[in-house]
Amino acid sequence: MFPKSSSLLGALLLISACSSTTAQQPEGETARNAVSDVSFVCNADVEPASYTLEEQVLVDQLWEETLTYLRGFADGLTTPTGACLDSAEATIQTVSEDGTIQTDCIAQYRDVELVLKHVQAVLDHPEEAKRCFDPQKDYDVFQLYTPNAAMKTDHEVAGWIDRPTLTAYFSELGGEIGAAGEELARDFVDIAKKADASANFPVDVSYNGLPNLWAAVGWLPFYAENPAAINPRFRGAYAYAEVMGPWGLLRIKSIDGESVGAEIGMTLQLADTFYPYHYHHPQEIYVTLTPAACVGQNEFMVGHWDNPQFEQTEREDGWDVTVDGSDGRSEAWFIPQSSDGHSLAYFERNAIHAFKLKEDCRSGDGHQGLVTVWARTTARDNDQTTHICSPVDGGDTAHPDEAYTCSLTDWEK
Ligand code: ZN
Repeated sequence: MFPKSSSLLGALLLISACSSTTAQQPEGETARNAVSDVSFVCNADVEPASYTLEEQVLVDQLWEETLTYLRGFADGLTTPTGACLDSAEATIQTVSEDGTIQTDCIAQYRDVELVLKHVQAVLDHPEEAKRCFDPQKDYDVFQLYTPNAAMKTDHEVAGWIDRPTLTAYFSELGGEIGAAGEELARDFVDIAKKADASANFPVDVSYNGLPNLWAAVGWLPFYAENPAAINPRFRGAYAYAEVMGPWGLLRIKSIDGESVGAEIGMTLQLADTFYPYHYHHPQEIYVTLTPAACVGQNEFMVGHWDNPQFEQTEREDGWDVTVDGSDGRSEAWFIPQSSDGHSLAYFERNAIHAFKLKEDCRSGDGHQGLVTVWARTTARDNDQTTHICSPVDGGDTAHPDEAYTCSLTDWEK
């Protein structure tokens, strides 16, 4: 890739030019103009770092896989499917009186459009964007994890970052949550490898295609210490990670003065778990990577908060929404979710959604679960908290076919 040089000095100058930013390359005006038309502002917590040559190789490997993930995400959302011309078609509601599943063209939502625009800016100006890239090796906002020790041995980047393992975290935590979490940590790679990205992405964004990214990104046992999520097995058996976003590897605050609301990552949830009904202000996107090992293995539901199947009562500062899955209603709300069926879903602000994963299918081999590409689009406005709906009867286990209250607060328009 380097032009031939007749002298050692010339070669050194070339190497020096190539290791600095694009703007300083000798190509001149074109390169300078190409980067100066976009301005990236990083999160304040992205600290300038210096790496040894060996470390830089690992950082670059993680960065390249990050770019591939983002490219795959953008292509996956904009490749036409269903009735959409310039967009993929997403499921937006599964809750209706007559069982109709509502779909829409995802790339036409304003918030999604902005995310795609910002991802494209990163892909068009990788050297500029890379200034906001941080492997989160010394990240101190909260603890991030690698699922298990073997992933650090098998993937050099994860070994170098050397996060604590979920195995150790859950072993320390103990109890039913700890046991589920240890299972998640142990079976993580097995489940992640079952992914099939080909139905939704032109590149393999799964663990199979980008193993360094999936191993080295920081994983969070999000519900382990949150009793609001009710079910102990679910609380241990769920983890997510963030590639780009306010708390991820690539932390860009704004592009050309526009706030970057993109939050793009991945989730993994073990079989035989129920992620109870929940909601949040930021809109959310899921692309399922796991094919179903049997019919209806993994299911989800989503209904807009004002859906007539729910009961809404106005309060001073919002709404109490009763979601009553009894009398067979929940069976109608949940639909199968797999990489080759209802794989793409878009949840509106405050849409109520849940994930119901059966026990391992007999027809499936090995350990099973659900792996998704996950994103939120407005990660810098309003309240980012994920709120779990409370069981009306105050029970200590959440089932889909019971009644829940979801207490929504109004948000700024
Ligand atoms: Zn959600």
